[in-house]
Formats: sequence, structure tokens, C-alpha cells
Amino acid sequence: MKKTISLLLALIPSVLLSQSFTTYFADKTMRVDYHHTGTKGAETVALDKVYEEGPWPGSRTRLVDNLNLGEYVMRVYDVASASLIYSRGFSSIFNEWQSTGEALAGTFRTFHETVRFPFPKHPVQVTISRRDRQMIFHEVFSTVIDPNSPTQVNRQRRTAQYQSKKILDNGAPQSKVDLLIIGDGYAKADMAKFNKDAQHFADALFSISPFKERKKEFNVWIIEVESNESGIDKPDKNEWKENALGTMYNTFGSARYVLTEENRVLRDIAGNVPYDALTILCNDNRYGGGGIYNLYTTCYTQVDTKGQEWQMDYVFVHELGHSFAGLGDEYYSSQISYVDFYQKGVEPWEPNITALNDPATIKWKSFIAPGTSLPTPWAKVSYDSLEALRGKLDRLAPDYYEKREPLYQQAMKLLRDPAHTGKVGAYEGAGYVSKGLYRPSLDCRMFSLSLVGFDPVCSSAINRVIDSYTK
Ligand SMILES: [Zn+2]
Repeated sequence: MKKTISLLLALIPSVLLSQSFTTYFADKTMRVDYHHTGTKGAETVALDKVYEEGPWPGSRTRLVDNLNLGEYVMRVYDVASASLIYSRGFSSIFNEWQSTGEALAGTFRTFHETVRFPFPKHPVQVTISRRDRQMIFHEVFSTVIDPNSPTQVNRQRRTAQYQSKKILDNGAPQSKVDLLIIGDGYAKADMAKFNKDAQHFADALFSISPFKERKKEFNVWIIEVESNESGIDKPDKNEWKENALGTMYNTFGSARYVLTEENRVLRDIAGNVPYDALTILCNDNRYGGGGIYNLYTTCYTQVDTKGQEWQMDYVFVHELGHSFAGLGDEYYSSQISYVDFYQKGVEPWEPNITALNDPATIKWKSFIAPGTSLPTPWAKVSYDSLEALRGKLDRLAPDYYEKREPLYQQAMKLLRDPAHTGKVGAYEGAGYVSKGLYRPSLDCRMFSLSLVGFDPVCSSAINRVIDSYTK
């Protein structure tokens, strides 16, 4: 009896919520494109175009975002009732770029971006807000869109240029996470390799917890995007390819950071299938990738050094940790392009990094065993000296891996210290800084370059995001 009552109670809100979906939304997607322009400390958002796209792939019950992830939040209000009817957190290339030397020097740049939400039936107000240094949101954009206006919404149907396939089918998109894998730098002759690569990385993802246990809640789609040439751009080598999606190495001056700024092209192609999460496989051989929360993941797919194939799997899953679950980088010893990415003393929004301003209220408290010291002592001095030696090696040199191996093995030994295995605490060194930011575990897929799994705090954050699409 008790079971029946709790089941009924659990059902009521979701029934009400699905009614509110049909009250406010049609089963289509509204895509809003805009230009995000500015420099350090200044930004403007200017509307570009509004599009009607295919069926809404996301949840019909989790319309308002309760995850509180991302640098920005997009909100949709029903104008007539002034109700908040949809919201989503996200991050952007623009906000990362604002921490680069180029932005600090006062250069202005613009990036093309997109937000998507279920297609409203009646006029809506769409706002975008940005966090300040204290994590408080302030509106940077607001516009009213009338979905029934003959001129405001572009309803042109785009004929699919490329073949799409569902390689993992677990049911209707609205109750599954729809992961879309697109290829870039794959010429016509490379399409069999793309299919093989897509399957390989999907398998790599679903071999690691918590994705492994929740595979049945995912659909995986692929689009066989054909580039005119094989490979992607390497600006530092003056190698420019005619690749369909415009992915390139050297983003923000980092040899291994791969992004595309061709957002409109990407969205036009992706919009042909229902997708919640977007990944781009890059048919190139230099170590690299990228991942931005609720934007996309990129990953390289060829390895020249025998025995290093596993690094691609590391990159794909690590970057998906960023783009899918808003996880932060826990490492702090690699070269990066950002200056003061996290504000000193401010608690970051990322679920796996803390400033530890108050150990008594640490955000992953429920994972910490009583009696654990905060901060949690670990072999940081030894680890840092090994990393300093590794940092002196040339990552692109032919003998890099040979020289790195002994340092890597010693560092891994420190991270596998049985005294800390599986124990959540607050380990100093995270978010690109050696001091003042802390990570939940000694090691995690968001910390070391290895095939280690996600730690309990990151796993739980990933599970919350999966729930937001499926529950
Ligand atoms: Zn990362």
C-alpha cells in the first residue's frame, strides 16, 4: 500500500509538468542564433536569426534547469503569464576567450552562438544572464520572440546534405540522452573510418562508469559529414584544410586545444537529427580536443606513436565530462592559455572544484567520511617535482613519450596511493592552479592523463545531468 501511494505521489508532478509542456510548447525546436561580442570585462549579445527546427529532443518534464551549472543561463518566459517556462545553463567559447591574453589586452572579438529550447506556442521573452565574480547572474540579453510572426522565424526546411544513422537506439528522444557524433576532416574515402571511429568512441564512453550503467538511457546518432580534404587545420604548422566544420588546433594559442568557430555551419548540419549533446570527431593525428559545457566535445582520432592509442579514449571521455556535465579541469600543472580563470577566494560553480572557503559546508560533504582532514594531505611536493620535469619536455618532439614514460610511471604511483584510493576529501591543486583550489579525490578522469575513471563526486554530477534528460 505504502508503495502505491509513493508511486502515485511521484507521478503527479510529472503529469502536471507534461501538461505544462503542451500548454506552452509545440513538438518542435526553436533555435536562436546570436553574436557574442566584447573584450575583458565587457560583452554584448546581438540577435542574429531565429529558426524552427525538427522535433524537440529534450525532456518534457524537466523544463526549468535546477542543475545551476555553466557560466550563463538562458531563460524563456511566457509573455502573457510572465511565467518562467524553460531554462538552461551553458558556457561558451566567448567566456573562455575572455580569460586569454588577447582579451586582457583589450582586443574586441565576436563569436557566433546558439541556444535551443522547445518551440513556444505563444510570444516568449528570451533572456541570457551571466554570472558575476560572486556567481550572481546578471542579464546581458533580452528579446521578445513571437513564434507566430511570419517574418521573425525562419521556417526554411534544410534538406539533409549528409547521411545520418542511429547507432544506439534505446527509444524516443524525449526520454533519452541523444548523443550526436559528427565527423570533421573526413573526406569521402575516410567515411568507413568515421563509422568505425564513432563506434569506437561510443564504446569507450559506455565502458566507463557511470555511463556504463546508464547506457540504456542513451541514443547515439551519427552524421557522415564529408570534408573536401582529410584532416583539420593546424595554424602553427601553416596547414589549412578544407574541412566541413572548421575545427582547428591552436585555439587560444594552445597546440592541443581544438574548437570550431563555425557555429552556424555546425548547427545547420546537427539540426537534422534530434540531439541533446554534440561531439565532433576530428580526423587528425595530433593529440588534442576540447569540451565546453552544453556546447560540444572535440577529439582527435589518429595516433602516430604506437602504444599511445589509449590517449584518444582518455581525451574523448575527459572532454565529454566538460561538455556534458560541466565538470572542471582538476589538473593544474599543464600549460594553459588562461589568466586567472577562477577568481581568487570565490567558490566555482563546477561541481568538482572548491575554493574550500568553509570546510564545514564543502559542496561534496556527503561523500566525505567522518574524520577526514580538510584539506586532505597528499604527496603534492613529490608529484609537483615530477610534473615540473615533465613540463620541460617538448610535447610535439618524436621522443616525447620515451622521455615522459619514467616520470609518468612515478607520478601514477603517487596517485594510486592505496591510503587514498576511493577516499573523497579536498586535495589541493585543481582548476589550473597549484594553490587555493581543491579537487575531491587524489585522481579522477578530470585530473590525470590516464584511463582512471570518474571519482564519486564527478560520477554523481554526471548522473544528475543524465537524470535531467531522462527522469
Ligand atoms: Zn579538460
